[in-house]
Amino acid sequence: MSVDSEAGNVEKSGEIAALLLAHYDRHARDLPWRTGPAAMKRGERPDPYRVWLSEIMLQQTTVAAVVPYFERFTARWPDVGKLATADPADILAAWAGLGYYARARNLIACAQQVAGERAGRFPDSEAELRGLPGIGTYSAAAIAAIAFDRRAVVVDANVERVIARLFAIEDPLPAGKPCIRACAERLTPDLRAGDFAQAMMDLGATICTPKTPDCGGCPVAVHCRARARAIADMLPRKLPKAAKPQRRGIAWWIERDGRVLLVTRPPRGMLGGLRALPDDGWNARRDGTGEPPLPGDWLLLSGSVRHVFTHFALDLEMAVYRGGDFDMVPQGEWWPLDRLGEAGLPTLFGKAAKLASLHEK
Ligand code: SF4
Repeated sequence: MSVDSEAGNVEKSGEIAALLLAHYDRHARDLPWRTGPAAMKRGERPDPYRVWLSEIMLQQTTVAAVVPYFERFTARWPDVGKLATADPADILAAWAGLGYYARARNLIACAQQVAGERAGRFPDSEAELRGLPGIGTYSAAAIAAIAFDRRAVVVDANVERVIARLFAIEDPLPAGKPCIRACAERLTPDLRAGDFAQAMMDLGATICTPKTPDCGGCPVAVHCRARARAIADMLPRKLPKAAKPQRRGIAWWIERDGRVLLVTRPPRGMLGGLRALPDDGWNARRDGTGEPPLPGDWLLLSGSVRHVFTHFALDLEMAVYRGGDFDMVPQGEWWPLDRLGEAGLPTLFGKAAKLASLHEK
């Protein structure tokens, strides 16, 4: 483990935190889930529901992608009680396009638990937050700090990068994570831990960016070891990622009287509980079988949809049913083609539907 001894210098840690907080007070990003420093000074406090919702949406997803979803969700379901009693199918449909659908299923379970067992109040400790569905170590720390101003060490990818550079931590990730975490622990102040966490996130998102950090505009540049050594843009070092396996599959387009057949995927597993086109059973471990869901004449369209999941990449072809015998059609919904945009199809099947609709059938 290589870490500069400055990480253990309490005085300097306090100075770094103070500089970051002062910068945050002047330049905090205006985000729809955030109670900014001016509002905090007026005595306003963050709404734990909005903080929780934003943190779940932000898992593996950018701020820019999350903002419109967050605004739609909070307009439709303004508190955890409303979300808990909503139709899960409506929530999954509203989540469509945001990806990582297990998050949406956990979101529903968590809302129901908080509304049903905790009278709509989120717990304020990391340990209790971790006991709720979909809240892991990082999210628990972020919610405890931001929503309840508990001292918690919040380390997301942005913070990881800032810390690795500030202390010139050269161990490649993921091996360097414990060292980064130890440094973050020492930097985190007792007071304003929530603002400090958001100040670090903002610094990583706006100044200490991955490729070209703006060290000239950085409030903690004077303390930065990577900058002093001119290695900032090389950190954090990362081990090369293993290539993702490539899978192939087919989605089936069955159309009748201006409607297309949609199925609901099984509740557990990939894209679980979502509406989708029928497919041939591909998953992360194997290709699809190529077996159509009913016998007859099928036209395999030219072109395909490529989609990258967390653990594999998929090449999805489309086949259109040209027979007229619908007796053996699998169970599903005949969805009007002119309202397909309201079906809440996940991105993969939205792209597949577009491919089919472009084709002269
Ligand atoms: Fe990042 Fe540069 Fe600031 Fe160091 S000086 S923390 S590398 S922006």
